[in-house]
Amino acid sequence: MTYCRNLFNYQRRKSSPVNIAQVPLGGSYPVRIQSMTNCSTLDTVCCVEQIKKIVAAGADYVRLTAQGTKEAENLGNIRREIRKQGVEVPLIADIHFNPKAAEMAASQVEKVRINPGNFADPLHIELPKGGVSDLGGVSILELEKQKVRERLLPLLAICKKRGTALRIGVNHGSLSSRMMLRYGDSPRGMVESCMEYLRICVEEDFSRVVISIKSSNTLAMIHTVRLLVKTMEAEGMSFPLHLGVTEAGDGEDGRIKSAVGIGSLLLDGIGDTVRVSLSEDPEVEIPVARKLVEYVEERKGHALINAKAFEGFDPYSYKRRESKKAGIIGKEQVPVVIQDHSQGLTTDYSFADPMPDFIYLGTKTPEAPRKDNIPQICDYRVYREQTQCYPLFEVAQIEELSGCKAALRFLRVCHTDLNEGLLQQLEKEQNLVLWLYSSHLNAAAEMRAAFHTLLNLGSYLPVVVAAAYSTEDVENLQVQAATDLGFLLADGFGDGVCISAGGLQAECLSLMFGILQATRSRISKTEYISCPGCGRTLFNLQSTLAKVKAGTSHLKGLKIAVMGCIVNGPGEMADADYGYVGAGRGRISLYKGKLCVEKNIPEEEALERLLNLIQKDR
Ligand code: SF4
Repeated sequence: MTYCRNLFNYQRRKSSPVNIAQVPLGGSYPVRIQSMTNCSTLDTVCCVEQIKKIVAAGADYVRLTAQGTKEAENLGNIRREIRKQGVEVPLIADIHFNPKAAEMAASQVEKVRINPGNFADPLHIELPKGGVSDLGGVSILELEKQKVRERLLPLLAICKKRGTALRIGVNHGSLSSRMMLRYGDSPRGMVESCMEYLRICVEEDFSRVVISIKSSNTLAMIHTVRLLVKTMEAEGMSFPLHLGVTEAGDGEDGRIKSAVGIGSLLLDGIGDTVRVSLSEDPEVEIPVARKLVEYVEERKGHALINAKAFEGFDPYSYKRRESKKAGIIGKEQVPVVIQDHSQGLTTDYSFADPMPDFIYLGTKTPEAPRKDNIPQICDYRVYREQTQCYPLFEVAQIEELSGCKAALRFLRVCHTDLNEGLLQQLEKEQNLVLWLYSSHLNAAAEMRAAFHTLLNLGSYLPVVVAAAYSTEDVENLQVQAATDLGFLLADGFGDGVCISAGGLQAECLSLMFGILQATRSRISKTEYISCPGCGRTLFNLQSTLAKVKAGTSHLKGLKIAVMGCIVNGPGEMADADYGYVGAGRGRISLYKGKLCVEKNIPEEEALERLLNLIQKDR
């Protein structure tokens, strides 16, 4: 039993269809796209305007937060108003902490999202006088389950009666303390948190269910969703999946993080609806999500990739493939970044931070050592011996490779080149790096196949992943490259990256560093964990994030969180070094690690106090 139908050939997972008004999802329905409003759900006019903008951008569903029964009730007014204006989009209520609000929302809108981390917890299990031994054969687990059941059944009854769908939406950042105690902060804890609710739904014969497990850590999200799918399949469940990376941030980093997490799973065939969460206007999320879904769907019906999965491969946790050291490439060294200058780019990187590790020149004759001292790689036919210059061989030139005395050599290969004979010959070579490319329609999967072949044949040669794109649209490039490379890096594959993108080559440098950062393979800048904002946000998230960035972007390696509220705030930013979290109207709390160090301070002072806090520690 595994998590996906085929590791190397794109096939969408067979999920059960769920009707959400006139826009069903799952089964063979298209992957649906959604976003969320970020104004107060009590502000009907603002919500209606935002919903119209989100729908005009192409969304299939719109979600709104409802923190209490008042907001949940107002969802009915919002729904009536948009219907009056001819907008038929199904609405989804987002509920945390409040079963009563969920029950109210279930009779107002088409779908309700609850969070098992805070729907029924904390549970106060009253033990009998004799303690655990006096439970009459009933385990604590059973008692907990009964409590969850008691809270969930009234909601299921309303959903059944009204035809409302339910999303069981687990967030890494708000895992219940009960689950944390039992399983720790682990993929298993997140999966069990979801399964507990799913099992009750199945027992109650309620099948209008969608599920999600989100995290701001892309690797945790990918591995946990795979584990959830495997666990469901083992219990005969096939509920459709909603995908998203929480607190992805904004700009290039937000797009990269989202594509790494969502795109990797879509390539695995997993995912029936997606939300790209950006700290930007809600409607901006839709075209990004659309590009992501369309890019992956181009793979439908592609030519078969023949490969055998490596038996020791564990898709549920991160382990980097072991490789030999070749200069600064391979073994435990961070993946290198190779900037392609073969199509005419002539940038001098003397003042760039970070700088690429190598420049690839293709058939261009290498300059004498560059002004910026970055080593160069060129095709073997134009190679001539000089310091800091290394040749790239073709498989047809393999006889000349052994005789070449360059301190580092590269060999361009694709999956179909790899066989036992070739690898035995190459394994004897020192300081040799494979330059892996693919011209297959599903290039990422063919490259994954190549890595499995290397593992099966016991090869430890380091590998640079060379990916080429033909798009002229920067956002497309970000989404496509982050999907493909994220897919491989999340599996632990790749000792270096080289992206080629024609007219967009200059954009590739920050893109490559961004992808490595989003997969936590190489940290080269400050990381921002920021939520998209919703009706709970009581400050201007976008402008605050911009100010925090302006004051901290030089602090390489620090993780700084900017969160709209405490729902996911303290949890999602658990691995952040510092946090700026909305605590109420005009009030902010500052965190250092998991510790709240300044509570409810005035918003006007918060940024300066955050910068002071960071300054004091440096
Ligand atoms: S963390 Fe942000 S998006 Fe999440 S509930 Fe709070 S304000 Fe809304």
